[in-house]
Amino acid sequence: MSVFSRVFRASIRNERDLLRFVVSVTAICVVIALAADVANQLSFFIDWPTCFRSWAITTGLVLALAIPISRAIGKAHLELYRAKQIADALGRTDQLTGLANRRALMEAIAGETPETLALVIVDIDRFKRVNDSYGHLAGDEVIRSVAQAMAAELGELGLVARVGGEEFALLASASPAEVVERRLLAFRDRVAATPVLASGHAVRVTISAGLAVRRAGETFDQLYSAADRALYAAKATGRNRVLSADEAAALVGRQRAEAEETKPDRLPRSA
Ligand code: GH3
Ligand code: MG
Ligand code: MG
Repeated sequence: MSVFSRVFRASIRNERDLLRFVVSVTAICVVIALAADVANQLSFFIDWPTCFRSWAITTGLVLALAIPISRAIGKAHLELYRAKQIADALGRTDQLTGLANRRALMEAIAGETPETLALVIVDIDRFKRVNDSYGHLAGDEVIRSVAQAMAAELGELGLVARVGGEEFALLASASPAEVVERRLLAFRDRVAATPVLASGHAVRVTISAGLAVRRAGETFDQLYSAADRALYAAKATGRNRVLSADEAAALVGRQRAEAEETKPDRLPRSA
């Protein structure tokens, strides 16, 4: 890569990069202008004092122009870089709660090693009733409050994200599933026991959660579906519950077996 492309293509991310850019651009301009002036003075040589005066004037002029102009260009680049950083961060942040959003969760999953991954989906129970009883703004406050509590209580286990209206996810990569489940149960109890103050009302809510641990070779979609099925089972069996994918599968199996047992024989018995 040439000096020019190294100087002009390098991204300016901080004040140090900006200084480096200004110095490099100014140095390049001084060298080019001086080279032209030296060639000019030596071609039409008068005397050495005239040469040195001309080179000093050229250098001063280039410095006076190149420093402010390159600084202005560099600053524009730096501001653009900072604006892009902010836009990127906003694109990964849920506006209501300040938590990571679904996109940030997907990116985090893509960067994880599969073995130790546990995914939890948390959903506020009967949330429609909160909106219907206290209004949408109060509903928003409840969502924000549950989000903050979840980030505070479970955030150290991994990434907490808002993945839907009143639905959250925890991507835990460094803790055993038993620890995640225990902490989840404590969180569920805390939510149920602590009313949220929303639009002047003390609103009581509960949450249900489904937990799945990634098995070898399992894709993210399969992991998500397993956590979602566990959440569905937690809802179907009374809400305010935490169920793992294994517990949910066992529950469904038991229910099927019971249904089979109580099913009347299809064919009438012959007398
Ligand atoms: P379940 O226990 O089965 O989860 O019942 P639910 O009422 O919570 O079920 P459902 O998922 O059908 O309802 C979620 C409601 O959340 C529907 C929607 O109006 C509301 N909702 C979604 N996003 C927002 C939001 O950002 N703010 C508010 N206030 N309400 C929202
Ligand atoms: Mg719900
Ligand atoms: Mg929901």
